Amino acid sequence: MKKPHIVILGAGYGGLVTTKKLEKLLRSGEATVTLINKHSYHYITTQLHKIGVGTAPDRKIALSIPELVNDSKTRFMTGTVTNVNAESQVVFLESGEEISYDYLVIALGFEVATFGIPGIKEHAFGIRSFRSSKAIYHQITKQLTLYKEDHDPSRLTFAVAGGGFTGIEMLGELAEGLPKLCEEHGVPFENVKIIGIEAAESLIPFFGDELIAYTSHIMESYNIDIFTSTKIKSCTENAVQLENGLEIPCRTLIWSCGVKANSLLERFGLPLVKGKLPVDKNLLVKGTENIFCIGDCALFMKDEKTALPPTAQVAMQEADVCGKNLTALIRGENLKAFEYHHKGSVASIGDRTAVGKVGSFTMSGWFAAIMKRVIENRYLFVLGGPSLILKQTLLLKREQL
Ligand code: FAD
Repeated sequence: MKKPHIVILGAGYGGLVTTKKLEKLLRSGEATVTLINKHSYHYITTQLHKIGVGTAPDRKIALSIPELVNDSKTRFMTGTVTNVNAESQVVFLESGEEISYDYLVIALGFEVATFGIPGIKEHAFGIRSFRSSKAIYHQITKQLTLYKEDHDPSRLTFAVAGGGFTGIEMLGELAEGLPKLCEEHGVPFENVKIIGIEAAESLIPFFGDELIAYTSHIMESYNIDIFTSTKIKSCTENAVQLENGLEIPCRTLIWSCGVKANSLLERFGLPLVKGKLPVDKNLLVKGTENIFCIGDCALFMKDEKTALPPTAQVAMQEADVCGKNLTALIRGENLKAFEYHHKGSVASIGDRTAVGKVGSFTMSGWFAAIMKRVIENRYLFVLGGPSLILKQTLLLKREQL
């Protein structure tokens, strides 16, 4: 009998963890598994801000996928998906290849949401992928180099739009990483301005008063100017225009105001809600019997009104159940309903401090920073066990010497 073919689209948090789960659960010969991803590396999205400021080595954030998967159990293909035909069960790649599947997992992640604000798409820098974060790094170093020629202060103004989780992580990283970059480029750090712009009344409003106050205090100690209750109206190559009429001369606007599902989904001919694929309790795309969707592309309703947020934590928990349900489908067993258990969130502000919340327990300072590292290492453990944690730790130590 022909072995069923499982095709997984995207090797981010959802796709890669599903792959690892299947490598554990499937018995030899039970199915063929193909994982397809745009690049041959998996990036640790939750640490992309470090690539943007050059505070972490590339190899710590971008991990080789062939080294993470077991090639006797998973076939990995580098390829860009351009479409899916759910009726004929075929995936189309940019290369012209067509891959047939029996079961499909859509885990194609997110895109930066620009909300149609003029100039953002063209001139702002999104923290979307390894490459887009590398583009931020190149922009910063280019501005430092050019500043030495023309002394234009707008080159040394670095603005971050969005004071949520990603925004404060980026601001903290800029504050810690820019002094070294300035020194390397012979530019006085005292001339640098770091600005955070947030539409809400405070930074990280979802974290509560105590952590908001702590975060604001840290931003102040770093000399970061924070504009709250401030909306961006538009942006050009050398300025950011605010709705209150002010204009900030600035060549680098880093955009971290939200994400949306990969717009590629629009081509698949499957019904979308808010740009995402609605899934049932077992994570099957509604109306299908062989297509799962997980992570930022999936719309999973926790209750009638609330959808799960686009986080790595959600994607990984969904991946675990998706792996189990694919195995169950192949074996003709009952599927498991997905239940999300929020384990808390921690946002780093540079390397030495962080803020976080686990249940009703809030944390800040070095303890939260250690918790952030524990979470990152836990993920490495899921991907490659203790040897991957050791390898990545040694890599960082070597780079620091
Ligand atoms: P992704 O991890 O984005 O993976 C999608 C994969 O699909 C990528 O490898 C991509 O290259 C590939 N792909 C895309 N298009 C194609 C194509 N056409 N063909 C082939 N491959 C394709 N969440 C947390 O829980 N905690 C955090 O601390 C946290 N911090 C974050 C910090 C930043 C800077 C950002 C940007 C996000 C953060 N998130 C965090 C959110 C988290 O990263 C996402 O929710 C998570 O990555 C979603 O996983 P996913 O598998 O759906 O997609």
